[in-house]
Amino acid sequence: MNALAKRAASDRAGLLEQLMAVVRPEFRVEVLVPAPEDPVLGVPDCAVPGCDYPVSDHGICNGHRLRWRDRGRPSLAEFLADPGPPLRGRSRLGRCTVAGCRYGTAGQGLCTKHRDRWERDGRPDPIVWAATAAPVADTAEQAECRLSYCDLWAEFSTRLCKSHQVRWRNSAARDLDEFAADCERLGKAVIDFRGLSPQLKLELQYAVQSRVDAATTRVSPTAVTIAIRYARAADVTSLLDRPQEHWRGVGGERRRGGGKYRRAAAFLAFAHDVVDALREGTGWDVEYPGDIWRLSRLPGWCSLSVMRVRRPDSGSTGSPNRGCGSSASAGFDYVSAAAATSEPSPATCKRSPDSANSSPPHPISPVSPTSTGRYWNDSSPGWPPSRSDRSPDPATSAG
Ligand SMILES: [Zn+2]
Ligand SMILES: [Zn+2]
Ligand SMILES: [Zn+2]
Repeated sequence: MNALAKRAASDRAGLLEQLMAVVRPEFRVEVLVPAPEDPVLGVPDCAVPGCDYPVSDHGICNGHRLRWRDRGRPSLAEFLADPGPPLRGRSRLGRCTVAGCRYGTAGQGLCTKHRDRWERDGRPDPIVWAATAAPVADTAEQAECRLSYCDLWAEFSTRLCKSHQVRWRNSAARDLDEFAADCERLGKAVIDFRGLSPQLKLELQYAVQSRVDAATTRVSPTAVTIAIRYARAADVTSLLDRPQEHWRGVGGERRRGGGKYRRAAAFLAFAHDVVDALREGTGWDVEYPGDIWRLSRLPGWCSLSVMRVRRPDSGSTGSPNRGCGSSASAGFDYVSAAAATSEPSPATCKRSPDSANSSPPHPISPVSPTSTGRYWNDSSPGWPPSRSDRSPDPATSAG
């Protein structure tokens, strides 16, 4: 192993350790099920009474929205008064036609036990026979199927009704608890981390945790699940195996259409950034030596994402006349700055309460507002990072 490879392996081991230390147990799960009222990840339930699918549009879930559209888009009040039968996945399973019997059907509209009796009675007309047949079990003593939305009686040691038992058997012999959990989550807004390699999973869980902790942007669980799919398909062990531009560009044409694919790409770019920041640390002592200052990593500076600087002793960034009306101060030219490009949201920027105590190591004159749309001031945050080899980010750098 050469020195570079050794260093990469050691960096990776260090990052994994950091992730294990910072990702909290509530995020270290295979499937994250946010509460509908969660301010960042929550998606409210559909407005149709009894429907627990997440809202898609117009206050109703996707299934009900399609039904509403097919009816010619009546007023919502009119639709809610008569939304029709429960949607697929929530519809009632077939039950025995004998009055008082809640076992699932096993042919001829009868449960297994009633069908046995019916056969012993010489197979008369099953409808006529069922109308007069007596129940086979004491209603009060029967346990319901273990799935919360199924009211059929359980028939097996698995505590599943006949239909759900058959479905479980046909579901590639998965673990019973996992099957039941999947059934309960069917159609819900969840974030599914399954199938990711350990470090990649922790990185994405850390990104979700970071969004929740910041509480400045709503995050769509569907978009995150799409992002996870892209990360899984990329065949990497860490997001840092690819540059941030790669993640920002995933989804291709679909991303250009906007919506959840664009949000998925934005989430991956964000995830790359927070994982990179975790590995490198943050603060002015980290940013200061570099040619690019990633202001989004500094408390109180998150209205701008990056700023290119040119030192008097370095010609490495831009040309003296390039960019937007630079302003010299303390030996620096501020060549360009770019507004933050994080996931779109009604509230992407939050000035941190400690920003007043966080200032660069040298006084900085304000940059012309016409050049950046924002101001620098002496009361802005402390100074950051360490990489002087950072290349400009074409997607976020102006100038
Ligand atoms: Zn619904
Ligand atoms: Zn029956
Ligand atoms: Zn059932």
